[in-house]
Amino acid sequence: MTDSSSPLATIRRRLAAAEAAAGRAPGSVTLIAVSKVQPDDRVRAVLAEGQRVFGENYVQEAAAKWPGFRATFPGVQLHMIGPLQTNKAKQAVELFDAIHSLDRASLAEKLARLAQARGSSPALFIQVNTGAEPQKAGILPQDLDAFVAQVRALDLDPQGLMCIPPEGADSAPHFKTLAEMAARNGLPGLSMGMSSDFESAVAHGATHVRVGSALFGARSAKA
Ligand SMILES: *Cc1c(COP(=O)(O)O)cnc(C)c1O
Repeated sequence: MTDSSSPLATIRRRLAAAEAAAGRAPGSVTLIAVSKVQPDDRVRAVLAEGQRVFGENYVQEAAAKWPGFRATFPGVQLHMIGPLQTNKAKQAVELFDAIHSLDRASLAEKLARLAQARGSSPALFIQVNTGAEPQKAGILPQDLDAFVAQVRALDLDPQGLMCIPPEGADSAPHFKTLAEMAARNGLPGLSMGMSSDFESAVAHGATHVRVGSALFGARSAKA
């Protein structure tokens, strides 16, 4: 049951208002509750309120945490939003319904082999390093069109693009660029916007927003 004053209820209201302000259909934006490094009781409370779409950054942590929650709360959809090591790809496709961090050819090749073997693939989002930050994962904007073609040539069907704008910068220009790159490549999905800027992301066409601390409270370490 949703308590109308809970953080989840507040985020849902803000998301609905942002959809309306942008002239977007109600419910057109998926709220991904980012539960990485959050205590189980906080995650359970949000599950009990009815939230079913969650994001995690670490395969190991998700594998430890979600099989139990899934047994108790049917219908959970899990999204991998952190960097994915190739040697964890098999475990990731077994655990996650979507992967937002497809960021290199070797990972695409691995995911293609797994998709062929399994006959299915999680939904895939290509991560774009819109700020061209050297320390950050993601395809550089100038390499994106070629990478999309490369992924499609592997018989994968990418759903959209994902970005994490540079910290401290205005994220709006990054959202705008990501939307343009997605449109030009015929990709319907846009995974962008976090606790501090999800309303702006919705205004720029986000289909998935990834909200952590505004929902669960501040994270302790490793975030
Ligand atoms: C942690 C994380 C988020 C959530 O960030 P908040 O600012 O806590 O909302 C969103 N996206 C990615 C990729 C993250 O790693």
